[in-house]
Amino acid sequence: MLFADVILPLPFAQTALTYIVPDEMGHVVSEGMQVIVPFGKYKLYTGIVSRLHHETPTGFEVKEIHSLVDLKPIVTKNQLSLWEWMSFYYMASIGEVCNAALPSMLKLESETIVSLNKTFSGDESLSPIEAKIVGLLQYSSSAKIEKLGKTVGVKSVLPHIHSLIFKGAVSVNETIRQKLVHRTEKIRTERIIRLNPEMDKDTIDLLLKKHKKQRKLYDDVSSVLTKKNTESCPRKELIREIGVQSYVMDELVAKNILEQFTTDVSRIDKTVEVQRKPYDLNDCQQAALLAIKQSFKQKQVCLLHGVTSSGKTEVYIHLIEEILQNGGQVLYLVPEIALTTQLTHRLRSVFGSKLGVYHSKINDSKRAEIWQKMLSPEPYEIILGVRSSLFLPFSKLGLVIVDEEHETSYKQQDPSPRYHARDTAIVMAQQAGAKTLLGSATPSFESYYNAQTGKYDLVTLSKRFEEIDLPEIRLENVGELRRKRKMKSILSPSLIEQIRQALANGEQAIIFRNRRGFASMLECKSCGWTPKCKRCDVSLTYHKFRNELKCHYCNAAYKVPTECPVCHGTQIDILGQGTEQVEEETANLFPDAVSARMDTDSARGKRSYEKYIFDFEANKIQILIGTQMLAKGLDFENVSVVGILSADSLLNHPDFRSYERGFQMMLQTSGRAGRKNKRGTVVIQASDPSEPIYRFVENNDYHGFFLLQMGERKNFRYPPFSRLLSIVLRHRKETVAEAASQQMADALRQTLSNRVLGPAKPAVSCKQSYYIREILLKLEPGISPQLVRKNIFLAEQLVRGNIQYKNIVISFNVDPM
Ligand code: ADP
Ligand code: ZN
Ligand code: ZN
Repeated sequence: MLFADVILPLPFAQTALTYIVPDEMGHVVSEGMQVIVPFGKYKLYTGIVSRLHHETPTGFEVKEIHSLVDLKPIVTKNQLSLWEWMSFYYMASIGEVCNAALPSMLKLESETIVSLNKTFSGDESLSPIEAKIVGLLQYSSSAKIEKLGKTVGVKSVLPHIHSLIFKGAVSVNETIRQKLVHRTEKIRTERIIRLNPEMDKDTIDLLLKKHKKQRKLYDDVSSVLTKKNTESCPRKELIREIGVQSYVMDELVAKNILEQFTTDVSRIDKTVEVQRKPYDLNDCQQAALLAIKQSFKQKQVCLLHGVTSSGKTEVYIHLIEEILQNGGQVLYLVPEIALTTQLTHRLRSVFGSKLGVYHSKINDSKRAEIWQKMLSPEPYEIILGVRSSLFLPFSKLGLVIVDEEHETSYKQQDPSPRYHARDTAIVMAQQAGAKTLLGSATPSFESYYNAQTGKYDLVTLSKRFEEIDLPEIRLENVGELRRKRKMKSILSPSLIEQIRQALANGEQAIIFRNRRGFASMLECKSCGWTPKCKRCDVSLTYHKFRNELKCHYCNAAYKVPTECPVCHGTQIDILGQGTEQVEEETANLFPDAVSARMDTDSARGKRSYEKYIFDFEANKIQILIGTQMLAKGLDFENVSVVGILSADSLLNHPDFRSYERGFQMMLQTSGRAGRKNKRGTVVIQASDPSEPIYRFVENNDYHGFFLLQMGERKNFRYPPFSRLLSIVLRHRKETVAEAASQQMADALRQTLSNRVLGPAKPAVSCKQSYYIREILLKLEPGISPQLVRKNIFLAEQLVRGNIQYKNIVISFNVDPM
């Protein structure tokens, strides 16, 4: 008898489940196919066949596969092996990995709710049953799949639903949160200008004879297009660069000398014409490109360490071009959706519709469509995306680029699998026989260490493109300025002066205020009491705009107290200087400039990050204030001043990586300063600038700082000299959390001895009414991962088997950060 192991995209599915393959299915079913299987008493789910075999399972009643969804596999062999690796390495269930990997359209179950697409009009393509379903939905607009099946009177309705989804007739209702995302994701259009190719020179001369302004604009547009080596350019960009009023542009369009058309920038499958060839590389870039190619002959992974604006992206573009010419595919990973926005335009102009973009803000039916296209004979040749795009089915992967590889947002925190996209990408590339290129101006110490020890190759770009100087870095001793009573504002006098000059020159400024430090908190002046969240044991943050207190862990809002509950004092002060306060100050200091604040609070809801980025690029905003988000590799042309406030707070965290992070952030934010022909300025405000880290920042000395830090990492056996694995236990009763974690730690110590630290009470020891304990494992590089996981598994069984610890939640975080 033939059996199939099927992976269900459900978190509790620890392993694939075995089903009988009915005889009539035997000759068509294959690994990677999507099938519908019964699970539990009545429910049907779609799952993925991971293995076919003849080993009769024992110990439970084996059910039959209900039906096939399609006759072609939707998951490749390489994907299945990657899932397996992730499940093992990150200690996640295979169901969790599958759930993270598949777009929700491919994860139907009988409880899923479907609804009719209002815009669908292809009725003639429907089968009789499909037409019946559509008819039903016209009355009730949405319904559970299970109910539809019953009403229509077919036993297996899932395959029909699948077919309707791909015909665009119905879609799956996702969670309310995701629905909101879609609603805010309006289709954005953009006006594009090009010269009318039909117009000859004489006609133009004639038409423009007496119109000086129009003549000048026409000449300017031609020269900008020539300079950019492109045929067309967004209207906004032209107006900005030329500095012309938009009615003149309209006049030229009206005369048909310029052509204007609208494109939809958010649609992902529009066919886009290639606009330019890759730029010629300068000597440094050329040398780097050669070195990377040379390195790939021997090594699996190469690290490109290039200062900000050294032209790394152009080097990638050349490399991508070569891979495509050899028939390979490229995955280009970036840490943030905001970065895909800037890069999409740049890559599209060179690679046109060969490029696909994949991230969580793309709606789900589109994601399913991209997935299907990747399986088709003509897949996207390049995928640009955030971490989830490594789950796509590549068939001939040649290269993975991990840009800004040091970014911590590559690590998924919740839910499981808590994977690191960079590390997973390296494994994925290896399994597919492809190479990995990591790029950063401030590599993670792990990657740089690997490059120093020869595991990876290292290629360096140490000059900015066009030799623009790295910015001048000025340290402001805020402690001293305060003592001398010279700090009249949050911004030091010198920063204020720099910004004033920049604005006078028509340039822009960025002010960086780290939020992870102490954002605005309230404190009772007489007794020092600060309001805390009742469920989470963290100080609440004061939000001036709404005049309320908020918990940043559970989002609970509280009223601002007028009286201290401890001493009944009525003087309650605001501590710290969050971005809101900075915004208020800049508005006062520079009333003629527009300042805007971009952080997770302001960018949620109506204004997305993109909006801020576009407005800043278009010079509608002159001063941009933000949190670490601003340090993430965005590229702005007109910024000449960057201010970093409270730099100390970057460093004061109970985390062994805080200096590495602080250093990366300072160097990265500085990288936003400076423009063609002009050196930028960075003002760093610190209360103790004698701290050695600032010397390395001033000298842009990454290597020196790395060596200094490696000494400490080695002493304390921190990564890269060890691997960390964190085990978190949570329970509603603190006594249970404590006892269970003690028992687990004791059990682990029997085999892993002094590698086990804790259990400890984390800084935030209670979140959403769950008490938390953490056990940390420090593992030397040589130790077998299999052995470690086996011992953890045994200890886990022991704790879970104890009825006193009922309802304990245990989760794992491998390589936590
Ligand atoms: P990085 O990725 O290292 O920060 P970029 O690739 O974004 O640097 O390059 C910085 C700027 O220089 C960009 O505006 C880019 O278009 C330009 N640039 C880089 N290399 C070239 C080149 N070879 N020819 C023309 N322009 C280039
Ligand atoms: Zn008090
Ligand atoms: Zn809370």
